[in-house]
Amino acid sequence: MSYNPYENMLNVLEKAAGMLGLEKSDYEELKYPERELKVSIPVRMDDGSIRVFEGYRVQHSSSRGPCKGGIRFHSQVDIDEVKALAAWMSLKCAIANIPYGGAKGAVKVDPRSVSHAELERITRRYTAAIFPLIGPERDIPAPDAGSTSEMMGWIMDTYSMMKGYSVPGAVTGKPIGIGGSLGRSEATGRGILFTARELFHRLGRELQGACIAIQGMGNVGGTTARLMFREGCKVVALADISGGVINYEGLDAEALYQHCYINRNFLESYNAPGVIHCTSEDVLCADADLLIPAAMENQLTAEIAPNVKAPLIVEAANGPTTVEGDEIFAKMGKYIVPDILANAGGVVVSYFEWVQNTQSLMWDEEQVNGMLEKTMRRAFAEVLNKAKEYNTTLRLGANMVALERLVTAKRIRGIFP
Ligand code: GLU
Repeated sequence: MSYNPYENMLNVLEKAAGMLGLEKSDYEELKYPERELKVSIPVRMDDGSIRVFEGYRVQHSSSRGPCKGGIRFHSQVDIDEVKALAAWMSLKCAIANIPYGGAKGAVKVDPRSVSHAELERITRRYTAAIFPLIGPERDIPAPDAGSTSEMMGWIMDTYSMMKGYSVPGAVTGKPIGIGGSLGRSEATGRGILFTARELFHRLGRELQGACIAIQGMGNVGGTTARLMFREGCKVVALADISGGVINYEGLDAEALYQHCYINRNFLESYNAPGVIHCTSEDVLCADADLLIPAAMENQLTAEIAPNVKAPLIVEAANGPTTVEGDEIFAKMGKYIVPDILANAGGVVVSYFEWVQNTQSLMWDEEQVNGMLEKTMRRAFAEVLNKAKEYNTTLRLGANMVALERLVTAKRIRGIFP
């Protein structure tokens, strides 16, 4: 069966709606994105030739506030993926209880396959193409897989030039020098740490000393590995697109972060005493207390799930577990903190950034991290309570919390005209 992330999203949403006893008419609208824009992005390449790239921006819901979500730069991206990612943003913002709806954008390109100057031209032209849809009160982009803070700076500048004045609140995840928030670049990883800590506490355990396996060495995976390492966890297995490394005595996550994220190398060229090279699948199936998929969708499938040893899973990626994989995990008795709760730290600090931008405030990092921790802990408690009330999984609990808030907003607003 071919994997469709949008079907995956709808499947879980339907189940949650059923458990809540919602009428079809209460949530029918949420099955469809409000707007889908497809754009072509002509760019002059360094050799003088013209290439036309494909881009998207999907706005899933604006019931609870402006649409919000990142922009993915990836060679394989398609509209169903962007639609699913946009819907997950609506659910995520509702769970974190921040006043946003959900959106997502994408450009079909491997950012490593073009030069830095070409990447800047692609990003700026894409911004111009989606300009009619975005803005601080309308839809606010941010980084996602394959996009960086520097690229958010180009988006901010392009948007501002087209408006004729500086609009820092048009995009989040910007460099600090133009209105980015302290703590934003590490926010998703830090949110994962808070979530994992909360999970362990609820189970009567300490996170310190726990063995962790992480798939993904981008901003989210790399930061999570480093923060967990600093917390006193034993990071035993890590993977990126080149493969994985395992050391059950513990890997040096600081050195690996430097090697992969800062110096832009792959894990396959990392060597240190005791380090064994393996596949990404070996990392997902490593002997660990906690598995953190922090790469892409569709990783924990029906084929892989039976071999996953970690009893606890915290989803840092969006949609890493398929519906079939999830069913197998449920039978195995695994405890899973779903993506729309666990990885909300990024968009929560994006919200703090936008609040600072739109009100000309400047907060210190301690304040930002403190508010992030409070928000994550509250969201975790609300989801856990809902799951307990309905005697179900955290995934369905999270979807139920989100659905209730989205449906309430829709009900209050009604249908125009
Ligand atoms: N791309 C991130 C996510 O999937 C962050 C989105 C944002 O900050 O708007 O949650």
